Amino acid sequence: MPKTISEKILGEHAGRDLTAGDIAIVDVDVVMAQDGTGPLAVSRIKKMGFSKVANPTKSIFFIDHGAPSPRKELADSHKVLREFASQSGAKLSDINQGVCHQILAESYVCPGNIVIGADSHTCTSGALGAFATGMGSTDIAVGFALSKTWLMVPHTIKVIFYGKLPAGVYAKDLIIYLIGKITADGATYKAIEFSGSTVESLGMEERFTIANMAVEAGAKTGLFATDTITKDYLDKQGRPDGCYRDIFADDGASYEQSIEIDVSKIEPIISKPHTVDNTKFVRELDKTKIDQVLIGTCTNGRLSDLAIAAKILDGKKIASWVRLLVVPASKDVYLDAIKTGIMEKLINAGATIINPGCGPCVGVHEGTLADGEVCLSTQNRNFKGRMGNPESFIYLSSPATAAWSAVKGYISDPREVLV
Ligand code: SF4
Repeated sequence: MPKTISEKILGEHAGRDLTAGDIAIVDVDVVMAQDGTGPLAVSRIKKMGFSKVANPTKSIFFIDHGAPSPRKELADSHKVLREFASQSGAKLSDINQGVCHQILAESYVCPGNIVIGADSHTCTSGALGAFATGMGSTDIAVGFALSKTWLMVPHTIKVIFYGKLPAGVYAKDLIIYLIGKITADGATYKAIEFSGSTVESLGMEERFTIANMAVEAGAKTGLFATDTITKDYLDKQGRPDGCYRDIFADDGASYEQSIEIDVSKIEPIISKPHTVDNTKFVRELDKTKIDQVLIGTCTNGRLSDLAIAAKILDGKKIASWVRLLVVPASKDVYLDAIKTGIMEKLINAGATIINPGCGPCVGVHEGTLADGEVCLSTQNRNFKGRMGNPESFIYLSSPATAAWSAVKGYISDPREVLV
């Protein structure tokens, strides 16, 4: 029977034929937790009587959400992860490395893997053709201890993006548009397979942006078939032979729904406070003054994101009342942005550069908003209080919209400068 990508990957890891709706125990390839969720996972691992992890080379604890530690409580959490990683043989990605999902993509995940992480945006690795999903700390503890988990095979929604991307429109606009269309719970416990002529021409960094936000429609995972773009990315990352493999859905696979989107009709778009599916084209928005702009995070902190921001900001200054925060997603992104002159352009335009990591995305440090302030961010969530203050307002956009808006001081359409 023809299979979706999820059915194929989960069936391989269960050692039996699976179709959507089946429940199975599967082997997992990569397990991770971060500094917010890791301490509870460690406590559960110990409570189950384990002192080692089953697969040390693919078990990773990330210190990225509050890194370096902003206060005593997080410093204590970091200490727990450092000590357990050392004692159990697990890998530790410490404060100088970057956001968990970026490092997983750069260094750990291969096509066809099952990846589980104690973080909802673990779905980012679906761009590499991996079944990647977030879970709670207790499930992740079992994953660390046994390299196994249980899953229900999700039904799949096929999303077909076709047509040529207009100037000023990017992968972030596509995924915000999709979530606005199907709503924040439109894909709950479904897999989304992204396909179509537009997707085939997107680079890996753009595919990561789309897969990253699949969970914002409630999806269990967001998947891409692999191709030469996937292979070239893994080769560039120096990944070992045997990492790349062809991953694709079979012709005739059964989908719960197919959604076709002509991208030539999409314009720069934003999510308004306080839900991701509260979308509007930038052109349709009332004049909205901003206090802070964030360019970075696991959604849009990669080199191509910083490059488009630098292109727009080159030779310009941000508005006098705006704070522009730039957070490279990883150490390698940071170094590449320095080598290519991107950082210099951003700094000269008035950006404050923050160390690789989550930065102010989750509101624990490095850019918490004041009462009534407005932030335009390239992150993936704008829930009330997300950036540390329930009395503030978060809009989401592409890096191009964010960069141009930082110059204007109001949320502005990047086609004003790019077309
Ligand atoms: Fe979560 Fe934001 Fe960190 Fe991504 S950058 S892992 S969304 S806190």
